[in-house]
Amino acid sequence: MRSERALLIGVIFIACVAVAFFLNSAKQHRISKSAEASNTTATAPVAGSASATSASGTLASNSPGSLSGPLVSFSFDDGWQSQYDNALPILEKAGFKGTFYIISTRVGTSLHMTRSELLQMEADGNEIGDHTRTHPDLSKLTDANAEEQIAGARQDLLALGFHDISTFAYPYGGHNDSTPGLVREAGLSGARSSRIGINSDEEDPYLLLSYHLTASTTLADAEKEIDTAIAQKQWLIFEGHHINEHTDDNISSSFLAQIVAYVKEKHIRVVTVRGGLAFLKK
Ligand SMILES: [Zn+2]
Repeated sequence: MRSERALLIGVIFIACVAVAFFLNSAKQHRISKSAEASNTTATAPVAGSASATSASGTLASNSPGSLSGPLVSFSFDDGWQSQYDNALPILEKAGFKGTFYIISTRVGTSLHMTRSELLQMEADGNEIGDHTRTHPDLSKLTDANAEEQIAGARQDLLALGFHDISTFAYPYGGHNDSTPGLVREAGLSGARSSRIGINSDEEDPYLLLSYHLTASTTLADAEKEIDTAIAQKQWLIFEGHHINEHTDDNISSSFLAQIVAYVKEKHIRVVTVRGGLAFLKK
């Protein structure tokens, strides 16, 4: 009798273990299915970003509307020829696309990129952005004059044949309380300011933070910013000007190449500024 009871207890125990094992394996299956689903989302092309790269790494697991991994953008201001000659080949070699903020009345003038160069860059997936007509400090202009600079430059660039002028950069980082609203009213979706920092997905799309690359920036400085973007799963926007000598507001092409190599090595998704906007909540 005692041995029958012991046998019964033993059978019940084995049955419980079997049920627990079954339930656990079913749960594991569901988890692996959902991980697979989120992976699929992460590797899908991102709206507005022809520049998504390195989708194989776990660091690239972003989904539109929020940041679940780091992003980096390379933006260049004022349309200098050195950007076409020196920055573009470095980005192209890495498979990255850049954002180029253009002063509409300076296209094709001395030391500036030509219309055909810029059109080719846009066709290749780079972003051409609005950087006003004549590069004034917008914080010091009347609203009417600021509007003419912002909306006028966008119209100029569209008239030159560019297809998508979606984002803006404030010359000298200058803006006042009404400037971001004028950018929005001009039909632009976002704007890069010169406030230093890395963007969370809560950031105001019309006051994006950036990190200015100058001759005083060291590689360690730039790598630290990239590492912070990785650790905090945030969007780092680099801002550059001349890409030739390592002086003043300019950086050398070898320095840019080192930064690009570090971003590549870390398997971070690189987006245009327009592409990055898709990851913000607002
Ligand atoms: Zn500028």
